[in-house]
Amino acid sequence: MCLFCKIASGEIPSSKVYEDDTILAFRDINPQAPVHLLVIPKAHIPSLDGVTAEHGALIAHLFETIPQIAREAGLTNGYRLISNCGPDACQSVPHLHFHILGGRAMTETMA
Ligand code: 5GP
Ligand code: ZN
Repeated sequence: MCLFCKIASGEIPSSKVYEDDTILAFRDINPQAPVHLLVIPKAHIPSLDGVTAEHGALIAHLFETIPQIAREAGLTNGYRLISNCGPDACQSVPHLHFHILGGRAMTETMA
């Protein structure tokens, strides 16, 4: 099982901020901003490259829940959403995840 599958199953503890049947959001262990959350599907999808039409409802659910998670984390002045996909993007955990970064003004540089 991959690291985030173990976090999703509860085998590895995490600081959860949102959970339902299909998705989970928790605090990044090495935060890059005052608020740094990770949002994952509980099902193992290796990266954005693994998303297919079969995941349509799940992906829609993720994207309609992310603003709610950000709001509940106090990010009323905006936030950045990032998904690193593959080696060039420095993806380090092979389980689809979205970083929510906020709590300060981001720089205009994205890479
Ligand atoms: P990636 O580099 O794959 O886009 O993002 C992986 C993220 O997972 C990194 O920001 C890293 O700090 C975070 N991370 C790695 N291991 C753990 C862990 O055990 N717990 C939590 N909460 N975050 C982790
Ligand atoms: Zn996994």
